[in-house]
Amino acid sequence: MERIRPDAPRRITLISTGGTIASRWQGTGYAADAGGDTVLASAAVPDGVEVKVVDLFNINSSQMTTERQLALLRTVRETLADPDVDGIVVTHGTDTLEESAFLLDLYHDDPRPVVFTGAQKPLGAADGDGPGNMYDALQVAGSVRDLGVLVVFDGKVHAARGTVKTQTLAADAFADPSAAGPVGRLGFGRVDIRRAPDRPAALPGPVADSGVPRVDVVMHHSDADPALFEAALAAGARGIVLVATGAGNATPAFVDAVAAAVRRGVLVAVSTRVPAGPLAEIYTGGGAVDLVAAGAVLSGTLRAGQTRVAVLATLLSDAAPAARTDTLRRLVAAPADTSTDERAAA
Ligand code: ASP
Repeated sequence: MERIRPDAPRRITLISTGGTIASRWQGTGYAADAGGDTVLASAAVPDGVEVKVVDLFNINSSQMTTERQLALLRTVRETLADPDVDGIVVTHGTDTLEESAFLLDLYHDDPRPVVFTGAQKPLGAADGDGPGNMYDALQVAGSVRDLGVLVVFDGKVHAARGTVKTQTLAADAFADPSAAGPVGRLGFGRVDIRRAPDRPAALPGPVADSGVPRVDVVMHHSDADPALFEAALAAGARGIVLVATGAGNATPAFVDAVAAAVRRGVLVAVSTRVPAGPLAEIYTGGGAVDLVAAGAVLSGTLRAGQTRVAVLATLLSDAAPAARTDTLRRLVAAPADTSTDERAAA
C-alpha cells in the first residue's frame, strides 16, 4: 500500500489489552489496571507518529481466552478497514502474547503491520522497559510493510510465528529458539529489518457461529500414561496437542490413544518439550514415526502454545473434517530460515 501523502503523519492505532505494561500494585501483587492512554503517556512517541487509543480489555494475559483473542482479531480487522490507519500496536501481557500474536498472524492478509509489545516491569517502574518497548513498537508499526504480525521487545523485531517467551523476568524476553535470530533490530532511531518472515497464505477468517472448540495440551514425561490424554477426550476436546519428548516421541500406549482419538475425528498434533529444533520422524516403538502413522501431525518448529493455536484455527476454519489434517500441516509447516547472519551475533 503506497502512501498518497508521504509527509503526512503515520497514524497508528494502539489497542490496549493489559499485561505488566499496564500493571500497578494492588496491595498484594501486581495486576493490569491502567488504560491505554495512561500506558501511552508513560512513553515517548516517535516524531511523525499520531496515536489513537482503543481500550479493548485490561487483563493479566494468563486470563486470555479464545473469545478474547477473536475479539482482538475483529478489532484489528475493523481498524484496518480505515485506509488512513498505517499500522497497529497491541499492548499485551507477555505470558500468552505468543498465542494471540500467532493467531492474528494466521489470519493477517494486510500489508500494514500489527505489532505486539509489552513489558517485564510494571507501569511506572524507575527502570521499566515498557516505555522503550512502546516507543519501538510505534516506530516499527509506522515504518514497515508486508511482514505480518510482529513482536517488538527489548530492541528486537520478531516474527509472530515461532516466537515464544523464553525468559520469565529478564527484559530480553522473546525469541524463536529454532531460528537464526530476530527478523530485525532497533537502535538510534532506526528500524533495521534483515529478513521477511516466511508465512503461509492467510486463513480466510474463523467460521462464524461455529463455537469455540476445546483444544487441550498434554505432556509426555517419564512414567506418563495416556490417562490425561483420555481425560481430555472425555472433557470434549476436539483437538489435542501432545507435547512429546525429543523430536516427537512418546510410548506405544500413547500411539494407541492417538489412533483412537483420530478415529473419533479429533485433530491431534505433536509438539515437543525441547526448546529448539524441528519435530522429526525418526523413532518407532512409540516415537514420531508411529504417532504420524496413527494420524497425528508434527508441529514443525512450533512449540505447544502456538501448536494449540494452529489446531484451534484449523477447527475454526471451513476445512471439511477430512481436509483438516492437510490444513493443519500447512499452518505448522516449518518456515524456510532465510537469515544468514546471526546466531553468533544474537
Ligand atoms: N502477568 C503478566 C501478563 O499479563 C506478565 C506480563 O505482562 O509480562 O502476562
